[in-house]
Amino acid sequence: MEKPGLYIHVPFCRRKCLYCAFFSVAAFDAGRVEDYRRALCHEARNQVVRYFGGERIPVATLYVGGGTPSILPVAFYASLFRALEDVFDFSALEEVSFEANPEHLGLDYLRDLRNYTPVRRISIGVQSFHDQDLKVLNRCHDAKDALAAVENARKAGFENLSVDLIYGLWGGEETALASWRENLSWIARLGLPHFSAYALSLEPGTLLWRKVEQGRYRMAPDEEVEREFFCLQEFAHRQGFEHYEISNLAKPGFEALHNSNYWRDLPYLGLGASAHSYIGRERFWNTSRLPDYLQDTEAGKGREFLSEEDNYHEYVMTALRTLRGVEPERLERFSPALQAAFGRQAALECNRGNLVIENGMYRIPDSKRLLTDGIASEFF
Ligand code: SF4
Repeated sequence: MEKPGLYIHVPFCRRKCLYCAFFSVAAFDAGRVEDYRRALCHEARNQVVRYFGGERIPVATLYVGGGTPSILPVAFYASLFRALEDVFDFSALEEVSFEANPEHLGLDYLRDLRNYTPVRRISIGVQSFHDQDLKVLNRCHDAKDALAAVENARKAGFENLSVDLIYGLWGGEETALASWRENLSWIARLGLPHFSAYALSLEPGTLLWRKVEQGRYRMAPDEEVEREFFCLQEFAHRQGFEHYEISNLAKPGFEALHNSNYWRDLPYLGLGASAHSYIGRERFWNTSRLPDYLQDTEAGKGREFLSEEDNYHEYVMTALRTLRGVEPERLERFSPALQAAFGRQAALECNRGNLVIENGMYRIPDSKRLLTDGIASEFF
């Protein structure tokens, strides 16, 4: 089996952002944090026994996500990584990423992170460089914090930086596109090598959902979201970014490896409340109830075995979202019937101009990328 990626979920946030459907809890105390560290270590030992026969396993990439990982002190991570080294071999890590919010990224925090942990890549949840957007989104930082966070990260020695941005924020026809353009221009001005751009989406149960239902927020019309996506593509082209996945853009050599491995259908192990894992064809996920997880990391664990067909669908769907596209070599795992079905549909989509073959891989051309989900669904 390929070396797995390791994901650690940190489910703590100061408060809930408008659009957020991720699992996180807004209130926590120091005692609970220490319990959480112990639970993560306990879960790690259990999983390694269950899936890898108890051997100390080499890990390809490490990703700390949330929630808001930067809400916890560096000492938490220094001690967590030391403990995890008993069960994982970190000697050949290709990437160690850490999600952070701007308001936590003071110079001292970043220097400690650099000196006492293996973290070398930081993904900063900026979302927008406009204070007004940040207020609407219920974020805890302002634009000044975002700029300071990038500057501090550089001073602390982090060159591999990414920021998250959200488009499709509706401020009215005149302002929306101009405002998005300005957000993109900050990426260029700051010389960032990587950024992620997500369209604002309406998820049930979020504060945004409630506001829209109450008529207190209006989602941007589809045409506006499209305009902003095309603006993103044009910016990427002009500034030398590879739009290597529908929501991710990187300068050469700065693609996020951990996430790219998800899209290539490689194995990963997730630790923490609500974390998902994928090993062999088995997918399993932890309870989202923090008290249950703290008491027993196996409590309420969900599990499913993907059929060959489900596995094929997921691979094709995620691979078509990437610039790399579907790799014939990775299709060889599937039955001759599924490979033949792919070949037939691929030929059809090539004729329709929805697919191109580049370096032996099948990908969706730039002009059709906004239609990715629809094109991918033709394969199922
Ligand atoms: S900081 Fe991130 S995880 Fe926490 S509420 Fe906001 S979007 Fe969700």
